[in-house]
Amino acid sequence: MPSNPSRDACYACDQPATTKEHTPPKSFFPPGKRQGLITVPSCSIHNCDNAPDVEYVRNAIAFHAGLNETGGLLIDTTKRSFDHSPALFSRTFQSFVVRSTEKHVATYKADLNRVKAMMTAVVQALHYRDQRQKWNRWQVFVPTLRSESSLNQGSDCWDAFRGLLNRIPYADRRTAEPEVFRYGSYALDWGWVYRLTFYGGFVVNAWMLREDTEDLYNTAIEARETEHEPNQ
Ligand SMILES: [Zn+2]
Repeated sequence: MPSNPSRDACYACDQPATTKEHTPPKSFFPPGKRQGLITVPSCSIHNCDNAPDVEYVRNAIAFHAGLNETGGLLIDTTKRSFDHSPALFSRTFQSFVVRSTEKHVATYKADLNRVKAMMTAVVQALHYRDQRQKWNRWQVFVPTLRSESSLNQGSDCWDAFRGLLNRIPYADRRTAEPEVFRYGSYALDWGWVYRLTFYGGFVVNAWMLREDTEDLYNTAIEARETEHEPNQ
């Protein structure tokens, strides 16, 4: 009998762990910044280190404005991955639109489902590590990404919600490479909420979804549906 069975089980299911998953995935960390990364025990199915979404999400983040210097290094890695696969480039940036050639501003649509799938795995692993609780139902919101309408108007209907998430007094957790990844968490009375920050500028929020309580996000969607002018 293992002395601590919870250590030996996968962070996401009841199968025995056969690998260690890096969370966030190792490829988010530039070579030379890979010491002391967070890992959780994982079965082979739930180890997302090499999942197809990971490379997509990393590349989509790399070209985001407002990242720190370490995030800038990522662009070189990303360019190399595009050199190997021009198809990957076109898939990632199929909606690329140049907004200003003078200011080098362009936009593209992020595939939010892939971002959310990857970030759910990350927060699930972090939560297991910190709280020893397996929880697979999370709502993910990316305050850094703007809705299409806000590009012209400067703000969108989610700004109040972004403000709300930003005012939560997250307790920061220690990470080995905070300029690549840092995070904090906070226990609301109905569950945990997390804020993940990549490269100092790409922010992701995730909170527990429960069946028995009203969800922040659904409340916001309702507010949006009643307040937002229909645009089609
Ligand atoms: Zn598993």
